[in-house]
This record gives sequence, structure tokens and C-alpha cells, in this order.
Amino acid sequence: MAESQVTYAGNLAKYTNLDQKGKIIAEYIWIDSEGNTRSKSRTLDEQEYKPEDLPVWNFDGSSTGQAPGDNSDVYLKPVAVFPDPFRLGKNILVLSDCWNADGTPNKYNYRHEAAKLMEAHAEHEPWFGLEQEYTLLDLNDRPYGWPKNGYPAPQGPYYCGVGAGKVVQRDIVEAHYRACLYAGIKISGTNAEVMPAQWEFQVGPCLGIEMGDHLWIGRFLLNRIAEEFGAKVSVHPKPIPGDWNGAGLHSNFSSKEMRVEGGMKAIEAAIEKLGKRHQEHIAVYGEDNEKRLTGRHETGAIDQFSYGVANRGASIRIPRECAAKGYGYFEDRRPASNADPYQITGIIMETIYGAAE
Ligand code: ADP
Ligand code: MN
Ligand code: MN
Ligand code: MN
Ligand code: MN
Repeated sequence: MAESQVTYAGNLAKYTNLDQKGKIIAEYIWIDSEGNTRSKSRTLDEQEYKPEDLPVWNFDGSSTGQAPGDNSDVYLKPVAVFPDPFRLGKNILVLSDCWNADGTPNKYNYRHEAAKLMEAHAEHEPWFGLEQEYTLLDLNDRPYGWPKNGYPAPQGPYYCGVGAGKVVQRDIVEAHYRACLYAGIKISGTNAEVMPAQWEFQVGPCLGIEMGDHLWIGRFLLNRIAEEFGAKVSVHPKPIPGDWNGAGLHSNFSSKEMRVEGGMKAIEAAIEKLGKRHQEHIAVYGEDNEKRLTGRHETGAIDQFSYGVANRGASIRIPRECAAKGYGYFEDRRPASNADPYQITGIIMETIYGAAE
């Protein structure tokens, strides 16, 4: 679409197509201490940028819980660049990881370790596909469409639902899908979830470190778009206690060896290794995950490792189609919706292939 065809609602519309006079706006995006994205903008000369061409920047880490007040500068090192679906034109989104003034990675920089693991085991060509579940809340933290007092009718009609009373805020989901495609995020699909006001988008297959990068930009875009609609995005793994499904970040994985005929051997060997490090995985699979992994509502119990073909009540599921073919991928169903994709993909690599050094 030509830039001049783009229309915006409200007063902003008068300004968005103004000539930028040879400059672009770069939106630097990073991950804070709470697992939210933050961002700020700067002007750069108009040109094509790769991460290594972009200036290192900084922010006040004492305002984000990422550094003490007396040594507050945290550095932003660009790691991936995407076209900006909001500003269009040559404007860009710049995903950055966080570094301390002494040259060490910031405490909340989980990308750095994951990238080392991906590099060390690159010959296995690891593919990931993550399923991000989330809940849309109003500004009073109530899920959209839920009565002010009381609850909606029990779960059943909402999953992949169509029609009023079954799904809410579809425009946010659709806008997010389009924005991801524009930005080059490898979004693979989306669906309404089992709990009303809950949705999911999938990203993948992505190679190695790209998984975390694309999922984080996907999260950024979702929050940024929901902001325009006055909606909050919750990634709490059990937003509503009781007989309501929680929210996960199912993590699908395959290696080069798993994707070819006879690959089930490699899948089974990997699952055996995963079973031996269950607690280590749970430790990085998100906070409050014990409220979700109860063994009910399509989950496996948090203190028990299990796996099975087509079993949605297990820790690990081998899709029916893969079992039938004898190769493909497996799904780790344990990660919570608020987990960090760098931590998930990193520990999967470490458990299956060993430490980076
Ligand atoms: P589910 O049936 O669990 O809801 P989804 O369709 O929501 O599955 O998500 C499946 C995910 O698995 C997608 O992100 C997809 O990209 C990913 N995927 C598919 N094939 C592979 C593969 N060979 N290796 C890794 N991930 C894969
Ligand atoms: Mn300032
Ligand atoms: Mn899914
Ligand atoms: Mn789901
Ligand atoms: Mn799944």
C-alpha cells in the first residue's frame, strides 16, 4: 500500500504522512525486569539498517528496575531490525538487548545465554514454534465481555468461537496479525481460546535465536495495538482462578534429525533427557505456573513429568500426525504464558545438546 493511502483516525492523521526530510524514526525496544517491553524513539538518517549499523543507545535503568540509581545507565545493543507497522515508510523497530556499564549482560538479558547455546549447537538446525496465549482485560482488569459481577456461562462455546457472546475484541487480534506480517514476524496463525476473552497467536517455525526475537516483537506489537483500543494484555498463567483454563506458551521443537524419516528416535531421546531435568525447566517456565499446571484444564501436573501421543494432559505431547509418520516435532506444554522465550529455547537446547562451553 502506498503511504499516501494510509489513513489514521483523529488528529494524528494530519501529521503521519508529512515528509520526514531524509530522517527516520527508530523505535528501540527492550525487555524490562518484569518481562514487559519498553521502548523509546530516536531520529536517524534515512538508510537501510542492519543491527550492526545502528548506534548503541542507553536508558535509565533505575526507572525500570534494571539498575541501581547511583549507576543507572543500561546500554541498548541492537540485535534485530523490523519495518515499523505504525509509522510505515522507512521507519523501523529496533529490538535491543541490555548491557551493564561494565560490559556484562544485564541481569534480565536472557538473550545472551540463549544465543550462545544456539550458536554452539547450530548444526542441529533447531526450529521452534511458540503458541502465545493471552487474555484481554479492560482498564479495571476485568476480562472483556465478562459480567461486572459474576461469571460468563461455562467454557465450551468460546474456543475458536464465532459470534457475539462468544468472542470479544477480534479487531485487536486481526490488527495484530496484520502488523506482525508487515513487520516480518513469522506469525503462523491465531485462534480464540477456551476461556472467554482469551486468545492465542503462534510464531514459527523460527530458527534458533530468531524464536525469542520474533516472539518478543509479537508481544510488543500486541501491547502497542491493544493500547490503541484501550485494552490491557495479561499474560498471567491463571488470570481467573477456578474452572477456567489458564494461559500457556506451548513450545514446539524439532531438530534436523527429528524432521527426517526415522526421526522419532531423536524425539524419544530428547524427551528422555527432558524428563531428567523437569524441575530445572519448571524453574524458568514462568511465574505462578503452579496455579496453571494442576493436571486439569489440558495441563500436566507441575511435579510430574509425563509424555504421550496426542495427550494434552501431559508435559510433552507428540502430535498424532508425527507419531503416525515416525518423524516431525514435539510440543513442550509446560511453559506459562509469561515465560521468557529466550529462557525456554535456551534450556531446551542445553538439556538436549549440552552446555554452550
Ligand atoms: P496446537 O495444536 O498445539 O494448538 P498450533 O497450531 O497452535 O498447535 O501451533 C503449532 C506450532 O508448532 C506453530 O507455531 C508451528 O509453527 C510450530 N511447528 C510446526 N512444525 C514444527 C516443527 N517441525 N518444528 C518446530 N515447530 C513447529
Ligand atoms: Mn531524560
Ligand atoms: Mn495452539
Ligand atoms: Mn492454545
Ligand atoms: Mn499447543
